[in-house]
Amino acid sequence: MGSRSIAKTSEQVESCGKCPRLVKWREAVAAEKRAAFAGETYWGKAVPGFGDPDAWLMIIGLAPAAHGANRTGRMFTGDRSGEWLYGALYRADLSSAPRSVARDDGLDLTGVYVTSVVKCAPPANKPTPAERDECTRYLVDELAAISPSVVVALGKFAWDGLLRALSQAGSDLPSPRPRFAHLAEIELAGPRRGATLIGSFHPSQQNTFTGKLTSEMFDAVFARALAVGRGAGTQV
Ligand code: SF4
Repeated sequence: MGSRSIAKTSEQVESCGKCPRLVKWREAVAAEKRAAFAGETYWGKAVPGFGDPDAWLMIIGLAPAAHGANRTGRMFTGDRSGEWLYGALYRADLSSAPRSVARDDGLDLTGVYVTSVVKCAPPANKPTPAERDECTRYLVDELAAISPSVVVALGKFAWDGLLRALSQAGSDLPSPRPRFAHLAEIELAGPRRGATLIGSFHPSQQNTFTGKLTSEMFDAVFARALAVGRGAGTQV
């Protein structure tokens, strides 16, 4: 059930062209390339989520990076943020390898699905509210197909985006809306079952270079996710 629905959503994402500004940008970046990747063929399309269709843990970021996932075609792959994320997942025994390099590198996630609120790389990492809202439909579909018991939101944009998607899916949300913080945790009514939302600072270079997010802090997020998942009776 999960795999069929996710495959369908992924197909829809890959062929999506609903946001003209983002289509133009992702394709221009793919044509111009960064000098270090001049010999590569960029993906240059919207990037579908990646991982286990039967995941208990969903990880949500902001959007693909111009020379990261927009180049490789896999979420959080090809940039420093991805190195942080897959490194942490490997240390938590949730990934078959510590690095995600390319769509065909054989990396396997068990019980984990990685996606983002917006599926196309935006200029300056800033999608417009209209683009964000347009793309929320795919996050709604992913949540319905996977029905995770734990969700980790990487940054405030992802936290708010998840709450928006759940609201769109008809879930009852606490009022006022819970605020994002590192290791903030709330219980939510998901589309098919309840889920625990955990906040984490995004592993962006800005956060990791400045020490706002350390690897110990990031590991604590996934240790907490595992503890919550086990508490929910999930096979983790
Ligand atoms: S951001 Fe989302 S809705 Fe907009 S073109 Fe990309 S995949 Fe489609």
